[in-house]
Amino acid sequence: EKKELLKLAGKPTVTADGRRVELLCNIGKPDDCALVIERDGEGVGLFRTEFLYMDSKEQPGEEQQFEAYKKAAMTLKGKPVTIRTLDVGGDKDIPYLGLEKEDNPFMGFRAVRYCIKNQDLYKTQLRALMRASAFGDIRIMIPLVTCVEEVRAVKKLVAEIASELDQNGVAYNKDIKVGVMMETPAAAVIADLLAKEADFFSIGTNDLTGYTMAADRGNANVAYLYSAYNPAVLRNIKSIIYCGRAEGIEVGMCGEAASDPLLIPLLVAFGLEEYSVNPVSVLSTRNEISKWSVKDAQKVAEEAMACSTEEEVRNVLTKYRR
Ligand code: PEP
Ligand code: MG
Repeated sequence: EKKELLKLAGKPTVTADGRRVELLCNIGKPDDCALVIERDGEGVGLFRTEFLYMDSKEQPGEEQQFEAYKKAAMTLKGKPVTIRTLDVGGDKDIPYLGLEKEDNPFMGFRAVRYCIKNQDLYKTQLRALMRASAFGDIRIMIPLVTCVEEVRAVKKLVAEIASELDQNGVAYNKDIKVGVMMETPAAAVIADLLAKEADFFSIGTNDLTGYTMAADRGNANVAYLYSAYNPAVLRNIKSIIYCGRAEGIEVGMCGEAASDPLLIPLLVAFGLEEYSVNPVSVLSTRNEISKWSVKDAQKVAEEAMACSTEEEVRNVLTKYRR
């Protein structure tokens, strides 16, 4: 089996009917970029930068961040490196930031909400990212977006930093892409509006599943609800892809669902263009994608999307598993 997969190394990722898609990787540290190359990833679809902050006793400075992002960009040699800005809060605590205890941290002051209110911290990160963009195809990705205002606020900061860099003659990519993580029901519902503001979408199915089902996967009593096979989650995914494509922006997925063999036919049918997975899952995901033509995948999707329950969906997907 392993041997079969190794044959796919160095090959592009294509559906059975020859549609090319991108197969990127999720990473947490610049050093992981070597693993991306080793495992034949076509770039980075999600760089979780909170690890930079968590591994440090104090806020990492601009130079430290710049070096980390630059290293990632250089290692990937012009392949996309999608860097998610600080996704603090919820289950991710960073002691020195002094976040208040909240009754409901998953609905609290976190991710882009925190960053917009802490502009010094955020501008330090954005400036490091923009400077590093001179060394490769760095893209900025905003976590936990729920409304258009958040995207506009980030883009305004990016524009401010751009003019500061211009004034100081510092190099950066003037066309740097700013994308939105689609991981809340609110974002899914206004995907058409967000698509007009964002340069790309990346669907974060880990959070999207939890927030859509209002179920914490860590809570054993409700964990049964935490499944991307729920019709509610699938409708959100489908609609996000549709809205992104209707506006002509690239739509990817960086949650765990992107490497779930049962879901691949649905993602192919919905027209997902970019899959971002754990580096160890690159070849197996490339293999799964290669099994499906759009036409065959659409047959599965039609049946799955007509189901009323998670169990029915699971049964349909299992029945068609190749
Ligand atoms: C997600 O929510 O699907 C995601 C990829 O981000 P994280 O798992 O880091 O929250
Ligand atoms: Mg998330």
